[in-house]
Amino acid sequence: MQNKYLMLVSKDRPMPKDYVPVLDDVYGKSLEKTAAFMLKEMFEAAKADGIELKLLSAYRTPEYQKEVFDRSVNQRIAEGQSYEQAVAETSINVAQPYESEHNLGLAADIVTPQDYDVYVDFENTGEFAWLSENAADFGFILRYPKGKECITGYTYEPWHYRYVGPYDARRIYNSDLTLEEYLGAY
Ligand SMILES: [Zn+2]
Repeated sequence: MQNKYLMLVSKDRPMPKDYVPVLDDVYGKSLEKTAAFMLKEMFEAAKADGIELKLLSAYRTPEYQKEVFDRSVNQRIAEGQSYEQAVAETSINVAQPYESEHNLGLAADIVTPQDYDVYVDFENTGEFAWLSENAADFGFILRYPKGKECITGYTYEPWHYRYVGPYDARRIYNSDLTLEEYLGAY
Protein backbone atom coordinates (compact mmCIF):
# COMPACT_ATOMS: atom_id res chain seq x y z
CA MET A 1 0.00 0.00 0.00
CA GLN A 2 1.14 3.52 -0.74
CA ASN A 3 2.65 5.40 2.22
CA LYS A 4 -0.12 7.81 3.15
CA TYR A 5 2.39 10.21 4.65
CA LEU A 6 3.82 10.77 1.17
CA MET A 7 0.44 11.39 -0.44
CA LEU A 8 0.79 14.26 -2.89
CA VAL A 9 -2.16 16.61 -2.74
CA SER A 10 -2.10 19.96 -4.51
CA LYS A 11 -4.08 22.19 -6.82
CA ASP A 12 -4.03 19.78 -9.74
CA ARG A 13 -3.90 16.66 -7.56
CA PRO A 14 -7.02 16.41 -5.40
CA MET A 15 -7.14 13.80 -2.65
CA PRO A 16 -9.61 10.91 -3.00
CA LYS A 17 -13.00 12.23 -1.89
CA ASP A 18 -13.61 9.20 0.32
CA TYR A 19 -10.30 9.57 2.19
CA VAL A 20 -10.94 10.20 5.87
CA PRO A 21 -7.87 10.68 8.06
CA VAL A 22 -7.73 9.19 11.55
CA LEU A 23 -7.38 12.29 13.68
CA ASP A 24 -6.12 13.12 17.13
CA ASP A 25 -6.42 16.30 19.18
CA VAL A 26 -3.40 18.52 19.42
CA TYR A 27 -3.30 21.99 21.03
CA GLY A 28 -7.04 22.49 20.57
CA LYS A 29 -6.99 21.43 16.90
CA SER A 30 -6.62 18.11 15.13
CA LEU A 31 -4.07 16.37 12.97
CA GLU A 32 -3.64 12.84 11.68
CA LYS A 33 -2.75 10.63 14.68
CA THR A 34 0.98 10.18 14.09
CA ALA A 35 1.43 13.73 12.84
CA ALA A 36 -0.31 14.99 16.00
CA PHE A 37 1.98 12.93 18.23
CA MET A 38 5.12 14.08 16.41
CA LEU A 39 4.01 17.72 16.38
CA LYS A 40 3.60 17.59 20.14
CA GLU A 41 7.08 16.06 20.47
CA MET A 42 8.46 18.83 18.24
CA PHE A 43 6.78 21.63 20.19
CA GLU A 44 8.10 20.18 23.46
CA ALA A 45 11.62 19.90 22.08
CA ALA A 46 11.41 23.52 20.95
CA LYS A 47 10.23 24.57 24.40
CA ALA A 48 13.21 22.78 25.95
CA ASP A 49 15.38 24.98 23.70
CA GLY A 50 13.50 28.10 24.86
CA ILE A 51 11.37 28.41 21.72
CA GLU A 52 7.60 28.68 22.02
CA LEU A 53 5.71 27.55 18.90
CA LYS A 54 2.02 28.10 18.18
CA LEU A 55 -0.17 25.89 16.02
CA LEU A 56 -2.34 28.32 14.05
CA SER A 57 -4.06 25.94 11.64
CA ALA A 58 -4.09 22.15 11.32
CA TYR A 59 -6.74 19.79 9.93
CA ARG A 60 -9.53 21.43 7.95
CA THR A 61 -12.57 19.62 6.64
CA PRO A 62 -13.14 19.93 2.88
CA GLU A 63 -16.36 21.82 3.75
CA TYR A 64 -14.42 24.37 5.75
CA GLN A 65 -11.84 24.60 2.94
CA LYS A 66 -14.68 25.50 0.58
CA GLU A 67 -15.85 28.21 2.99
CA VAL A 68 -12.36 29.71 3.15
CA PHE A 69 -12.11 29.69 -0.65
CA ASP A 70 -15.59 31.15 -1.24
CA ARG A 71 -15.06 33.84 1.40
CA SER A 72 -11.95 35.06 -0.39
CA VAL A 73 -13.70 35.01 -3.79
CA ASN A 74 -16.69 36.94 -2.44
CA GLN A 75 -14.47 39.51 -0.79
CA ARG A 76 -12.64 40.11 -4.06
CA ILE A 77 -15.92 40.45 -5.94
CA ALA A 78 -17.08 42.97 -3.32
CA GLU A 79 -13.86 44.88 -4.04
CA GLY A 80 -14.85 45.09 -7.71
CA GLN A 81 -13.19 42.09 -9.34
CA SER A 82 -14.99 39.89 -11.84
CA TYR A 83 -15.86 36.35 -10.74
CA GLU A 84 -13.16 34.85 -13.00
CA GLN A 85 -10.53 37.28 -11.73
CA ALA A 86 -11.55 36.66 -8.10
CA VAL A 87 -11.27 32.88 -8.52
CA ALA A 88 -7.91 33.17 -10.31
CA GLU A 89 -6.40 35.43 -7.66
CA THR A 90 -7.81 33.44 -4.74
CA SER A 91 -6.32 30.28 -6.26
CA ILE A 92 -2.82 31.71 -5.91
CA ASN A 93 -2.94 31.41 -2.11
CA VAL A 94 -5.99 29.35 -1.21
CA ALA A 95 -6.64 25.76 -2.17
CA GLN A 96 -10.00 24.36 -3.26
CA PRO A 97 -11.58 21.60 -1.13
CA TYR A 98 -9.76 18.24 -1.46
CA GLU A 99 -6.74 20.07 -2.92
CA SER A 100 -5.21 21.19 0.39
CA GLU A 101 -2.82 19.22 2.58
CA HIS A 102 -4.82 20.62 5.49
CA ASN A 103 -7.68 18.37 4.34
CA LEU A 104 -5.31 15.39 4.71
CA GLY A 105 -4.57 16.23 8.33
CA LEU A 106 -0.86 16.29 7.53
CA ALA A 107 -0.24 20.05 7.36
CA ALA A 108 0.42 22.47 10.20
CA ASP A 109 0.68 26.25 10.00
CA ILE A 110 3.09 27.26 12.74
CA VAL A 111 3.72 30.79 14.02
CA THR A 112 5.05 32.57 17.10
CA PRO A 113 2.87 32.91 20.23
CA GLN A 114 2.31 36.61 19.37
CA ASP A 115 0.86 35.86 15.92
CA TYR A 116 -2.77 35.50 14.93
CA ASP A 117 -2.17 35.20 11.21
CA VAL A 118 0.46 33.89 8.81
CA TYR A 119 2.99 36.25 7.21
CA VAL A 120 6.17 35.92 5.16
CA ASP A 121 8.32 37.80 7.72
CA PHE A 122 7.90 34.76 9.97
CA GLU A 123 11.09 33.64 8.21
CA ASN A 124 13.03 36.21 10.26
CA THR A 125 11.96 34.85 13.65
CA GLY A 126 13.84 32.59 16.04
CA GLU A 127 10.89 30.21 15.83
CA PHE A 128 11.45 29.80 12.08
CA ALA A 129 15.19 29.35 12.57
CA TRP A 130 14.51 26.59 15.10
CA LEU A 131 12.06 24.86 12.76
CA SER A 132 14.47 25.08 9.83
CA GLU A 133 17.07 23.27 11.84
CA ASN A 134 14.92 20.71 13.65
CA ALA A 135 11.58 20.05 11.93
CA ALA A 136 12.91 17.22 9.76
CA ASP A 137 13.92 15.23 12.86
CA PHE A 138 10.23 15.14 13.78
CA GLY A 139 9.11 14.27 10.27
CA PHE A 140 8.06 17.72 9.10
CA ILE A 141 9.25 19.56 5.99
CA LEU A 142 8.88 23.16 4.85
CA ARG A 143 6.47 22.37 2.06
CA TYR A 144 6.47 25.54 -0.07
CA PRO A 145 10.04 26.85 -0.07
CA LYS A 146 11.28 30.07 -1.62
CA GLY A 147 12.29 29.75 -5.26
CA LYS A 148 10.28 26.56 -5.81
CA GLU A 149 7.00 28.29 -6.62
CA CYS A 150 6.79 26.94 -10.17
CA ILE A 151 7.20 23.38 -8.89
CA THR A 152 4.86 23.46 -5.89
CA GLY A 153 2.36 25.88 -7.44
CA TYR A 154 2.41 27.85 -4.17
CA THR A 155 4.06 31.10 -3.16
CA TYR A 156 6.65 30.85 -0.38
CA GLU A 157 4.98 29.86 2.93
CA PRO A 158 7.53 29.83 5.78
CA TRP A 159 4.76 28.79 8.22
CA HIS A 160 3.40 25.72 6.39
CA TYR A 161 4.89 22.40 7.51
CA ARG A 162 3.95 19.02 6.11
CA TYR A 163 4.32 15.72 7.93
CA VAL A 164 6.00 13.02 5.82
CA GLY A 165 7.70 11.01 8.59
CA PRO A 166 11.29 11.44 9.88
CA TYR A 167 12.97 9.12 7.35
CA ASP A 168 11.66 10.91 4.28
CA ALA A 169 11.75 14.36 5.93
CA ARG A 170 15.51 14.03 6.52
CA ARG A 171 16.10 12.83 2.96
CA ILE A 172 14.01 15.68 1.54
CA TYR A 173 15.73 18.22 3.81
CA ASN A 174 19.24 17.01 2.92
CA SER A 175 18.54 16.91 -0.81
CA ASP A 176 16.89 20.35 -0.89
CA LEU A 177 14.06 18.94 -2.99
CA THR A 178 10.34 19.67 -2.89
CA LEU A 179 7.95 16.80 -2.24
CA GLU A 180 7.03 16.88 -5.94
CA GLU A 181 10.66 16.42 -7.02
CA TYR A 182 11.36 13.85 -4.32
CA LEU A 183 8.46 11.71 -5.52
CA GLY A 184 9.46 12.16 -9.16
CA ALA A 185 6.12 13.83 -9.77
CA TYR A 186 7.49 16.93 -11.40
ZN1 LIG B 1 -0.94 25.75 5.57
